[in-house]
Amino acid sequence: MTETARTKCRCPRCRIRGFTGPVILIVIGGIFLCGEYTPYGFDTLWPVLLVIVGVLLLAQSMASREGHTGP
Ligand SMILES: [Zn+2]
Repeated sequence: MTETARTKCRCPRCRIRGFTGPVILIVIGGIFLCGEYTPYGFDTLWPVLLVIVGVLLLAQSMASREGHTGP
């Protein structure tokens, strides 16, 4: 319902914003997988999440809003 309104804009900034959520989930999943198969668990790898989120926010703020539709 609100999904269509959120994904309507195809400007670079909105596209990065659109995949920020899934990327965070994938990274959290990957960190837990590392906890299963390597000696490094969530307690050692959680800062990776901060780095990824930081990079995504940075990319979002630098991305062009050209062609942006909506607020
Ligand atoms: Zn946009």
